[in-house]
Amino acid sequence: MRRDFDLQPDGTDAEPPGPERNRRDPLVPSGCCGSLRDADPKPRRFDAARLSVSGNGTPHGHKSITMPLDLSRRLAESEPLLLDGATGTELERRGAQTELPLWSARALVDLPDRVREIHSDYVEAGAEILTANTFRTQRRTLERGGLGGRAEDLTVLAVQLARRAADTAAPGREVFVVGSAPPLEDCFEPGRVPDDTRLEREHVEHAAHLVRAGVDAILVETMNTTREAIAALRAARRAGVPALVSFVCWEGARLLSGEALETALDEVAAENPVAVGVNCLPPSNVTACLPVLRASGLAFSVYANTGAPDRDVGHPRGEDWPPDEFADCAMGWLDGGARIVGGCCGTTPAHVRAMAQRMRR
Ligand SMILES: [Zn+2]
Repeated sequence: MRRDFDLQPDGTDAEPPGPERNRRDPLVPSGCCGSLRDADPKPRRFDAARLSVSGNGTPHGHKSITMPLDLSRRLAESEPLLLDGATGTELERRGAQTELPLWSARALVDLPDRVREIHSDYVEAGAEILTANTFRTQRRTLERGGLGGRAEDLTVLAVQLARRAADTAAPGREVFVVGSAPPLEDCFEPGRVPDDTRLEREHVEHAAHLVRAGVDAILVETMNTTREAIAALRAARRAGVPALVSFVCWEGARLLSGEALETALDEVAAENPVAVGVNCLPPSNVTACLPVLRASGLAFSVYANTGAPDRDVGHPRGEDWPPDEFADCAMGWLDGGARIVGGCCGTTPAHVRAMAQRMRR
């Protein structure tokens, strides 16, 4: 059974997602191929006119998206970039079901319009980089949730939703869409990182899906080991798109694996990421990481969460860092040399708006 917002087998369908719904019926795989055998190694964009179709079928595209936007060029400019805020916790805050293992991926099936609404709210708040909701669209996770055959079409849908929101930005305003590539297993459990063979195979598949979907870059994020970060960066390179890489550090400048952030940055630098960084760490721990990031000599990003993860839900609930206080911290990250700032779990469009106002976006 196909939902009305499913993609066609050639992955080029631009039908808008159906109306929001709160279905709780069993989720049925759509039979998408999801295979790498016929993956196109070159970045490929969908037709702009077909993608830029509003809910009533009226084209409203105003800029070409036939070529990837050049994030490297933008990073070389003097003005820093504003990344968006959380998607998973924001979906939860807006009433979507986000139980594990699917977490944020379930909304792609249940509530695609809500995903797009969140992206649009981030654009409206001033974000210049949208992170597509592909944090949990890898085959490994979807299989656990009964959607294993839909890794490719849900990844493509997630990127399309972000792209449609990006296309609502004012003419001349550049909004990048990056694909999230997180650890294959729990971000906060480095002991569960798969072996190298699985890492390579699964990150290569996810990167190929993201590139087919037309991302401007891949955001390798919330990494808890250098080993997996390198596997994901190599997958992005093989897929032919630029990549950023970001680590999660909760205590001092160390990954959750115990590896020193300094060593991790040295090792990933050989893979030529366009930026390195830290994310999903409490703002209080950014201070320890900033000098290390700066000393790397690489462009770097900081997008913290809003406090220590809640024991029950596994991520911060957001009470600890309201928008203005969070944004004040972010200005300190910029003063410390960050080229990209934004928010991770617990942050909202209000956090991004508060940062945008301070950055005069
Ligand atoms: Zn996070």
